[in-house]
Amino acid sequence: MGSEDFIQMNQRYVFNTYGRTPIMLVEGRGSRVWDSDGNEYLDFIAGLAACPLGHGHPGLAKAIADQAKRLIHVSNLFHIEPQIRLAQLLTENSFADKAFFCNSGAEANEGAIKLARRYFHNLGQHDRYHVITMDNSFHGRTLATLAATGQKKYRDGFEPHMPGFSHVEFGDIEALEKAMTPQTAAVLLEPIQGEGGVRVAPANYLRDVRKLCTENGSLLMLDEIQTGMGRTGKFFAYQHYGMEPDVMTLAKGIAGGVPMGALLATDTVASALVPGTHASTFGGNPLAAAAGVAVVEEILSEGFLAQVEAKGAHLRARLEDLAQRHETIREARGVGLMQAVDLKVPGADLVTAMREKGVLINCTSETVVRFLPPLVVTDDEIDRATDTLDAVLRSIEVG
Ligand SMILES: *Cc1c(COP(=O)(O)O)cnc(C)c1O
Repeated sequence: MGSEDFIQMNQRYVFNTYGRTPIMLVEGRGSRVWDSDGNEYLDFIAGLAACPLGHGHPGLAKAIADQAKRLIHVSNLFHIEPQIRLAQLLTENSFADKAFFCNSGAEANEGAIKLARRYFHNLGQHDRYHVITMDNSFHGRTLATLAATGQKKYRDGFEPHMPGFSHVEFGDIEALEKAMTPQTAAVLLEPIQGEGGVRVAPANYLRDVRKLCTENGSLLMLDEIQTGMGRTGKFFAYQHYGMEPDVMTLAKGIAGGVPMGALLATDTVASALVPGTHASTFGGNPLAAAAGVAVVEEILSEGFLAQVEAKGAHLRARLEDLAQRHETIREARGVGLMQAVDLKVPGADLVTAMREKGVLINCTSETVVRFLPPLVVTDDEIDRATDTLDAVLRSIEVG
């Protein structure tokens, strides 16, 4: 069967929830992937930031294979060695004291919202369940995380929305101050908005949010599902900003493409959840956790994050240069290897033209073309991707 047949079968048998690209990827190595017709691409999507070590990473593949032979799953009725080791790695290298594991970003954010409610419930503050999030944010597709998500296009048609959420403008500290009340349990935000168009917070914003939360007795919860795991050149994005949250959620890159999410918190906050209050059958199972340990050990290895920072700076410089030379680009922005160009035109055609020239990127927020290469991408691959963008922009501008 050829790829055409599979695409037809997909239409017949699979829910039509995704605007899928008309190719089927079957193999990858590092930052390169191949489709079922043998065409090669540079992968600057990396599974939507879920593949920090790229494809076919020998160490990660071995960790998964070794663990699969020993034990794939046992349930959280038992102690799980790789889960304990992953929790130690994540907490000893962040503000957090404790970790809870689940299977996705939405599930991690659901856990964070439950944690905030239960924390104040235990303190006898039963009215304090309100969570403030940001306009243009993205926190997931479940009912609570949809209510948290500050974008109408994701929420429409799924009413009634879960109560207890409100949204303020990202980056506007006065708006947040005005919105905070004694009922505010938590402020939940992405340090850099990902799906919302790679929007970076203004200087000092996160520190000011931290201050407001502390003054108001509210929890600060960071959604680092996209920005975490080395993506921005630090292990976690908050580490750029001289502040610490009370709670943080992770997913996407945490286990190198094996489905996993995590909820991290300080001891004080984490202790609100006692046996029976929260659980996940697969959360932190031996297979996913072994993958997570392999990924984290690699990201924290000598020189890895410095490399991400250097390659991010290189990609950024290339995009800035294109922004200078192409009137179609409004702005280049991002941190580390989470970069984007905001266009004066819709990005969809550009994404297609790039794919036809062998580079995979994606468009978010209509006009924003996003670059999320594996963290192991090389400078040469960055040059090839940006040279291709240069050529595609030139052909668009010539008309
Ligand atoms: C992708 C993403 C989510 C949702 O993660 P899923 O694993 O798809 O549920 C939540 N928050 C942010 C910031 C994300 O980028």
